[in-house]
Amino acid sequence: MRCPQCGTRDTRVIDSRDLDESATIRRRRECPACSTRFTTYERVEAARLVVVKRDGVRQEFDRDKLASGLAKALTRRPVPDDAAERAADEIEGELRSAGQSEVPSSRVGALAMEKLRALDHIAYIRFASVYQSFEDLEDLKREVDQLFAEGSPKKGKRTA
Ligand SMILES: [Zn+2]
Repeated sequence: MRCPQCGTRDTRVIDSRDLDESATIRRRRECPACSTRFTTYERVEAARLVVVKRDGVRQEFDRDKLASGLAKALTRRPVPDDAAERAADEIEGELRSAGQSEVPSSRVGALAMEKLRALDHIAYIRFASVYQSFEDLEDLKREVDQLFAEGSPKKGKRTA
């Protein structure tokens, strides 16, 4: 597998794991020449997953970018260390199992908000305030009031 950064052919696999009940194998690879890390997916029918942004720009789905966005929202919140990684894997699994090669970025954002909402309300508000860019304080207050009305996520609950 060629390094996307420098073109070196001899990259090595540093991690391998099954996604969505083994239909997909995800491999993390590292280039020995430039240390770039990247991810490859092996499927029965190789499917690209492209995210279409609101302005029409298309980008390859970046699971690690999603995981780091989730991790940022979950910083110092009382959730398991791997919560962001798990949520990113779950979101990716859901996107890929839908079987479409293109998904709108709003779908990815909605899934991320759904996962965070079930994990931790503060993280959810952090993420939503960036992602949805609340128009004003009233919008934010409405969202917070709604969360209060629903109560806290159950401790130790897994989002499956
Ligand atoms: Zn390289």
